[in-house]
Amino acid sequence: MRLLVIGGVAAGLSAAARARRLDPGLEIVVLEKGPAISYGACGLPYYVEGRIRRAGELIVYTPEYFRKARNITVRTGARVISIAHPRREAVLENGERVHYDRLVIATGARPRRVDIPGAGQPHVFTLHTLDDAERLKAYLREKQPKRAVVVGAGYIGLEAADALRRNGLAVTLVEQSAHVLHRGDAELTKAVQERLERFRVALCWNARAPEIGSYDLAVLAVGLQPNVEIAVEAGVELGRTGAIRVDERMETNLSGVYAAGDCAEALHLVTGRPAYIPLGTTANKMGRVAGANAAGGRDRFGGVVGTAIVNVFGMGVAITGLSVEQARREGFAPVSARITARSRQSYFGGRPITVELVADSGTRRLLGGSVWGEEGVEGRINVIATALHNRMRVEDIEQLDLAYAPPFATVWDPVLIAAQQLSKMV
Ligand code: FAD
Repeated sequence: MRLLVIGGVAAGLSAAARARRLDPGLEIVVLEKGPAISYGACGLPYYVEGRIRRAGELIVYTPEYFRKARNITVRTGARVISIAHPRREAVLENGERVHYDRLVIATGARPRRVDIPGAGQPHVFTLHTLDDAERLKAYLREKQPKRAVVVGAGYIGLEAADALRRNGLAVTLVEQSAHVLHRGDAELTKAVQERLERFRVALCWNARAPEIGSYDLAVLAVGLQPNVEIAVEAGVELGRTGAIRVDERMETNLSGVYAAGDCAEALHLVTGRPAYIPLGTTANKMGRVAGANAAGGRDRFGGVVGTAIVNVFGMGVAITGLSVEQARREGFAPVSARITARSRQSYFGGRPITVELVADSGTRRLLGGSVWGEEGVEGRINVIATALHNRMRVEDIEQLDLAYAPPFATVWDPVLIAAQQLSKMV
């Protein structure tokens, strides 16, 4: 019995490792087209920035580790060009055919292409793979560019702007909408904008096609597109988001074929509908479930609430669930409360922290939230995310027994203060 995994990063290796744990006798083969496996793409901006000195530090495990410690065969430079599902075979670029009994598709995503004049020039980069980061780093070193443009104010664009600015470049951030992080959230955008301006990043909102040619360096970060082509050709169905449709066991419409990570969609627990929110946190969980079930287990993946956090020049910016605008689009009647409080007691150096909560005015159910500030952001957003997972109502959040001691928090935690405010409005 052979489990074949296509893709050797977060989802694929989580699947392989979990399958091995459940079935020591299973033959497990991972095919990865790139030269490296098991690296943390999340660390790439910090490598570009210079905080991480060697790209190799981002690699967690090697193929040798998987062979020796896990009895899993990992082949790099092995690109699958098609899947012949009736024969249960993956076809490699060199014509080799690899048989499988169970298959996990973990092919990830790629940066979305933009139709901007000059996008193919040598000074234009994306920041998606280890190779991308090394090429960008080499360009910074060898060409000493002075002026950079970053296209897209999603989290990768924000992190790229930060990394380039810290390399001493003059940076312009160009965004085709009027908001950051695809939330349609004016206050969150204002906070990020103030931070960027403070660190002298120039901003262009509602701008579609920057003059890439007039900059020394450009980074395109306009979103991701799931790698689904070989799956689709094999008969795997996509969902409404354009990513692979899976059930809660991560199985596709083809029996014995699973999909996980950035190539697949996930159930959004607030809207109750599938969503495409590609993140490493989700990829690892999905991969684990896919691997367990491919090895004969019965695991399920519950879904996501869209929790993410990004560092913008030392300010944590975190989101979960729906913004007011997103909630309205999904048919809710949202109300929101936003407060600014202290991350911990002032006499312990507490910093301002802003918490916004969004709830449905009809049901009083929490729909989402955002948090930003220089410290204490991750703890607060995780409380809100947990509340969303548990479909909590505003009055339940007000009653949460959250930790307090002066070095860590305030006696009324900012999340509780926001919930009290919101309670007056729903
Ligand atoms: P990938 O990591 O894309 O891996 C898929 C692999 O499949 C690739 O190595 C690819 O080469 C291989 N492959 C594709 N097609 C084939 C084929 N036909 N044959 C063989 N191999 C194939 N997430 C967070 O949660 N927090 C963060 O802070 C964060 N920061 C990020 C910062 C950056 C700059 C980037 C780029 C991503 C960040 N992410 C973050 C997202 C996270 O890295 C991804 O969600 C995660 O890597 C997805 O894992 P995956 O295994 O699904 O896909």
